[in-house]
Amino acid sequence: MIIGHLGIAAATYARRRDSSLVWLLGASMAPDVVDGLFVAAGSCNPYGLYSHTLPAAALIAVVTGALAYLATGQRISGVLATVMVLAHLPLDYVTGLKLFWPGGELLGLRLYTYPTVDFFVEALIAAGGWWLIRARPWAPRWATTWLALAVLFVLQGTLDVVGARQNGMKPSACGRAGPLAAG
Ligand SMILES: [Zn+2]
Repeated sequence: MIIGHLGIAAATYARRRDSSLVWLLGASMAPDVVDGLFVAAGSCNPYGLYSHTLPAAALIAVVTGALAYLATGQRISGVLATVMVLAHLPLDYVTGLKLFWPGGELLGLRLYTYPTVDFFVEALIAAGGWWLIRARPWAPRWATTWLALAVLFVLQGTLDVVGARQNGMKPSACGRAGPLAAG
């Protein structure tokens, strides 16, 4: 899942004015950011072993929550950032196929197998979150413009098309024959 994560973060922010939207959005994508760091470092992260398994996500959640708290001085942002990282896992279960426990089975409902359906499901969640913060006068303006929603749709559409073409959305440093991270 990609922009669906951001929709959930936005919906959470819509209920908690005293939290940081930027930190919630970032935390909701943190396991994917870790995936990206592995690719950038050129090391293999097979099926999300170091980013999407429960122990890995728990560690990322604690670190992200602590950073959010230190950066914002808001306890609620720290708590919600932690929750956002943990909520990433069940959402990815719907779309992908990956490890949720080291050495365990590959799990997931593989919604990515149906890119068009995936696009509409994620677009709906993202639009829901966007619509909720749009109704909040305190929400930052950049997040509530039509442009912001359009950028999300283009991003999701591009990734769904790319993912359908190459059997997986994300680049991987595991080598051509190696396992791909699946979202
Ligand atoms: Zn993910």
